[in-house]
Amino acid sequence: MLALAAARLGFKTHIYSDESESCGFQVATATTRARYADERALGEFAAACDVVTFEFENVPEATALYLADRVPVAPNPRALSVAQDRYIEKSFIAGLGIATAAFRNVESKTDAAESYRAIGGPAVLKTRTLGYDGKGQEIVRSAEEAASGFAKFGDVPAILEKFVEFSFEASVVAARGRDGAFAAYDPPKNEHENHILRRSIVPAPLTQETAAEAVRIARRIAEALDYVGVLGVELFIGKDGEIAVNEIAPRVHNSGHWTIEACTVSQFEQHIRAVAFWPLGSPARHSDAVMENIIGAEVENWHALAGEQAGLHIYGKRVVRPGRKMGHITRLLPLGTAVGSI
Ligand code: AMP
Repeated sequence: MLALAAARLGFKTHIYSDESESCGFQVATATTRARYADERALGEFAAACDVVTFEFENVPEATALYLADRVPVAPNPRALSVAQDRYIEKSFIAGLGIATAAFRNVESKTDAAESYRAIGGPAVLKTRTLGYDGKGQEIVRSAEEAASGFAKFGDVPAILEKFVEFSFEASVVAARGRDGAFAAYDPPKNEHENHILRRSIVPAPLTQETAAEAVRIARRIAEALDYVGVLGVELFIGKDGEIAVNEIAPRVHNSGHWTIEACTVSQFEQHIRAVAFWPLGSPARHSDAVMENIIGAEVENWHALAGEQAGLHIYGKRVVRPGRKMGHITRLLPLGTAVGSI
């Protein structure tokens, strides 16, 4: 979707991936398939590009740093490394004075049990790195469960977080330009099933003050990281509108896919503008929207899901796996009529 947005703005794209069938390869001007540690391939890639960005947060920091020595890389490698490690990420957010779930670093079974006793339950044990869509994540209800969960993950560094009794989840998808300009889309409400985003409904049922506070939080994070590009900030919203940040995504975000249909300037175009040293566009929305992910085998049945009206996006992934995001659909509704509207 980034490559398509780039093409519409007249740019050529060169996609580097360590996967043989990266979906982006279908729509890019040039492609490189190589490992992220392959310095020769990275050097040739850097020489072929005027600017480099990424849309996958598990690109190793060393890869981003290697490229950043040769070509402008945005967002900067620090934003990537902060978001890759849940303990560093939560410490960074809390250090800005922004609320998160109570959390503790866990490096042993003893740590896990002690952290549970300190935080109280229920709690969520998460691996510090490489988790997404609920992978490497488990709810624990006793100190013993925390310790056995740690062992089950294979003794890898983890964090223990207090389970947040949120009223619903929301997110801010926003962009920061090279000149410090900042533009946030209206926050959607996000509904998850099995830890995977099922749908985003925009607007979220937030008061104006809470929505503005959510955007201020995203801006503070973007500024503290000297961020350039689009970022997603995932939020838990309490019953009185209190906000806790769950995590940061240093990339275009699934909860912003509806911007393709509902905004003149989508998150993908906005990201390309930001990293290409262009001015940002307007994040204004002309419609309410409901974005629904097409997950796993549902893709076989896309017509029943999308009907004739919804915007349909199928990513072209060759292998269908349970829980794999295969595409999404977006339905537009007149302004003020989406379920999340207040
Ligand atoms: P994450 O991988 O951290 O984005 O978590 C995936 C989903 O798990 C979130 O969107 C929430 O629905 C749920 N979750 C994660 N952490 C917590 C928490 N501390 N309290 C309650 N729910 C959580």
